[in-house]
Amino acid sequence: MTAQGIPTPQGKRQWSYGTVKRMLRNEKYKGDALLQKSFTTDFLTKSTKPNEGELPQYYVENNHEAIIKRDVFDLVQIELDKLEKKRQTSNIFTGRLFCGDCGAAFGSKVWHSASKYKRTIYQCNAKYKGEHKCQTPHVTEEEIKVWFLSAINQLLSNRDEIIANTELLIDMAKDTSPLENKIDDLEQ
Ligand SMILES: [Zn+2]
Repeated sequence: MTAQGIPTPQGKRQWSYGTVKRMLRNEKYKGDALLQKSFTTDFLTKSTKPNEGELPQYYVENNHEAIIKRDVFDLVQIELDKLEKKRQTSNIFTGRLFCGDCGAAFGSKVWHSASKYKRTIYQCNAKYKGEHKCQTPHVTEEEIKVWFLSAINQLLSNRDEIIANTELLIDMAKDTSPLENKIDDLEQ
């Protein structure tokens, strides 16, 4: 829709994941209505807030004519649930690993998702882009977890030294006496 120049409900050009998701999740498209989704907290300023259980909500089926058939809408919900579960479970290291060869971020991928050999791997997002093919191999999530833990343990083994060094640095950074001396000089 961004490519086709169709504006968002707020009249913006760029469609976001959140906007599309809210539309696909909105029960009004299948003819239902959830009442009291949000409520007015201040009648003078007309400010509202989402109803998170403060007030009862009412779900009305077939409240109006549907735009999307009920079974199509429900199938979309199943696909969205799957997608969101995937996003939640395989995102631990996303945005935290970078390719040693080209510097691009590592992205996650699920291999053999339907079998008992299912595993999550991470590989360079730019591996197959451009002429240069990255030499960095893919790594499994299990491998990264082991490396991550050993790095954390290394950090913890000399944590006292790290804290002492940091405190020293903070003291040095906080030390304003050279500046104060300069002020004194200038004032004189
Ligand atoms: Zn790379």
